Amino acid sequence: MAIILDGKKLREKILAELKLKIDRFQVKPSLAVILVGDNPASQIYVNNKKKVAQQIGINSQVITFPNTVSEDELISKIKELNEDETVNAILVQLPLPATISKERVINTIDPKKDVDGFTPYNFGKLFSGEIPNVYPCTPKGVLLLLDEYGIELDGKHAVVVGRSNIVGKPMAQMLLNRNATVTVCHSHTKNLDSIIKTADIVVSAVGKNIIKGESIKSGCVIVDVGIFKDEFGKTRGDVDFESASNIASYISPVPGGVGPMTITSLMLNTVELFEKSL
Ligand code: NAP
Repeated sequence: MAIILDGKKLREKILAELKLKIDRFQVKPSLAVILVGDNPASQIYVNNKKKVAQQIGINSQVITFPNTVSEDELISKIKELNEDETVNAILVQLPLPATISKERVINTIDPKKDVDGFTPYNFGKLFSGEIPNVYPCTPKGVLLLLDEYGIELDGKHAVVVGRSNIVGKPMAQMLLNRNATVTVCHSHTKNLDSIIKTADIVVSAVGKNIIKGESIKSGCVIVDVGIFKDEFGKTRGDVDFESASNIASYISPVPGGVGPMTITSLMLNTVELFEKSL
């Protein structure tokens, strides 16, 4: 039976340490989150971020806009936050309405306040092997989890399923930077199962149940980033946990694996940007 990569436990440990650090600061780190529209999932994510930030002593504000907000209005708010010395971290909750250019909005964030690491400056640094101001939260959380359990990456074959800018691409690059041999798969990949079968480490970020136990190599490490609701309204990951946990050596559950690590990374990133701003 696979060992569980317990994101909740690691979150508690890291956040407790971070709170002690923040308690020692005279001025507190400050995170501004922009939420556009009334997407229920986004509202839950944003509320969680605010709650956790408050618990550990980070000042946080949520700035909400209706779906009808114009791109220019949003951009002028970000410019205002860029200039605001009391704010050291800015996050724009994605997705944005289709009428708004996500790229233009993200590109407006000052890279020194880009807590997600999504601006071209920070993304470019990551992909050129330099050190960005911060690393994107979800892949950073995955690596924290793998490191906590002492999982070796050097020379291992890592298969990343998904190639989004939020998860798949930065994940692949961060694994490459740690000397894994990385294969990236996506919706056009042929013979996905046979590629997954060769992986020492699988990181799946799709949002559909696509990986069964019989597809994975015995003893491999499974990190399940995907989240979706099944037909019964139950939260699921990309990987069939029951069958895969009998074959893998380590596996992250959904919920309770990568999700808690993403929010932990956001808090770490907020504090890192704050310390860099001093
Ligand atoms: P996304 O932008 O929709 O990307 C999904 C990726 O999956 C795309 O690259 C897509 O390929 C690929 N894909 C779709 N169907 C596939 C298939 N049948 N076989 C192989 N690849 C396939 O989503 P995302 O933002 O990266 O998020 C992915 C999942 O992770 C979602 O479930 C999301 O909710 C979850 N997530 C979780 C956390 C967390 O903290 N736990 C954080 C972020 C995201 P193409 O590029 O070819 O379309």
